[in-house]
Amino acid sequence: MTVRVRYAPSPTGSPHVGNIRTALYNHLFAKRHGGVNIVRIEDTDRARTVEGCEAEILESLRYVGVEWQEGVGSDGPEPSEGPFGPYRQSERNAAGIYGPHWRRLIEQGDAYWAFDTSEELEAMRKEREAQKLSTGYFGGEWRDAPTAKVEAAQAAGKPGVVRLKVPRGLKIVVEDAVRGRIEHDSDLVDDPVLIKADGMPTYHFAAMVDDHLMEVTHIFRGEEWISSAPKHVVLFGALGWTPPVMVHLPVIKGKDGSKLSKRHGDTACLDFRRAGFLGRALANFIALIGWSPGGDREVMSMDEMAEAFDLKGVQPSSGVFDADKLQWMSGVHVRNSGPQRLADEVRDYAGRQETERYWSARVPSSDEVDPHVRLDGLRRLASADPRSAEAAVALLQERVTNLADFGPACRFLFVETVDFDPKAVEKWFHEPHVPDLFRRLSDKVTGMTAHGHTDYEVALKACQTEMGIEKLGPVVHPVRVALTGSTVGPGLFELMAVLGPERIVKRLQSAIGDR
Ligand code: GLU
Repeated sequence: MTVRVRYAPSPTGSPHVGNIRTALYNHLFAKRHGGVNIVRIEDTDRARTVEGCEAEILESLRYVGVEWQEGVGSDGPEPSEGPFGPYRQSERNAAGIYGPHWRRLIEQGDAYWAFDTSEELEAMRKEREAQKLSTGYFGGEWRDAPTAKVEAAQAAGKPGVVRLKVPRGLKIVVEDAVRGRIEHDSDLVDDPVLIKADGMPTYHFAAMVDDHLMEVTHIFRGEEWISSAPKHVVLFGALGWTPPVMVHLPVIKGKDGSKLSKRHGDTACLDFRRAGFLGRALANFIALIGWSPGGDREVMSMDEMAEAFDLKGVQPSSGVFDADKLQWMSGVHVRNSGPQRLADEVRDYAGRQETERYWSARVPSSDEVDPHVRLDGLRRLASADPRSAEAAVALLQERVTNLADFGPACRFLFVETVDFDPKAVEKWFHEPHVPDLFRRLSDKVTGMTAHGHTDYEVALKACQTEMGIEKLGPVVHPVRVALTGSTVGPGLFELMAVLGPERIVKRLQSAIGDR
């Protein structure tokens, strides 16, 4: 059996962390089993469909590295012509794919027309509430209405819906790959709408018909669908089909224990790209919310995760979105990346309009870098010649957590005049040996023919010896302040190698003048 899974989003809003996790598990599971991942767009709720959302979904998937072999936006053959296409439910409906199946259900007596008005439905709801009965539609006057009554309603042009006739007095068994067997009393399962008055299928109907027709073997979806699973089991049974294996994924919570929401900060997938996170770091982080590869493995590439992905590792209990852990994991992925690739990624990041928009709109907290300084640093890094940019990235990749942090971290390398930390200046520039030190170093650097970090080390140590200074500190610190404006930063000789002789000399000279 070929594993066939699907990510089936409704284009009703920006995909968030939970949606992306579902997409990732589909990808990992398909990859693990050499199967097929499908992207199907569930756009049957026209009123809730948001313009541009489908594009944002596909963009989000590409950003985190989800691959799909069939469906909307896939690299495969034109989706509408594939054996299972089209892959947008609105198009499937227009192509008449659902009609034969719901008509068959009506003919078999497993579904029925219902013509309740919204006032009638509201009255029924209140009545059940007053009687403390479970909410939902359990039949009313239409479940067992004689054909003549239905035909009369149709002839009168009443708007009607088609509902599933959930059998009463039975146990409905849902087999969930994570939670095991769940039994439901069918008397508590209401009759869901399958076809709406506008002729569009509901999620319950379209998704299940599609899962069957697309030969889906496993359904990964959020646990908010658990209560719908018995309806889907009944539907599959009535159509004589075998349901796919169901895998309901636990809800994702914030660290405060409440369901993850905008209150917890960025949750839309592309916001993380705007904030500077590498897609591979975000994928790694999100995949581990609710799945464990076993042991204490955490930092993993997509291929490693696919290799290890197993339903046994999917947790039934809720997962926690820990923003500090994302920072940490992101930093590890940055450090593990080759500088050339990373420099290309920073360049791409800095050049995006969304990066500019994201940071320009940001209100920084008191300990955060001014967003305009960040953007300025990114721009300078992106427009540096590729070799300098790569050297700058290699110099600082140990010290940043994401692409955006390269802006403030690298800025000092590319500015015309250094921003001095007044405390650093106060502490080091007033030492009597400093002007002489700067002059000597400047002369040595001017005469240097090789410019590797060890060459700078030799030059500075020669100044130290000539000046009879015992310790390295009084030599290193003032030079660092002259070159970077600050007392902290990456290794001095390494950063000198990135700055290059002209900048070094210029900065030393201007530090002498500024004293
Ligand atoms: N269209 C549903 C949603 O976006 C998908 C649920 C499923 O995967 O079956 O929530």
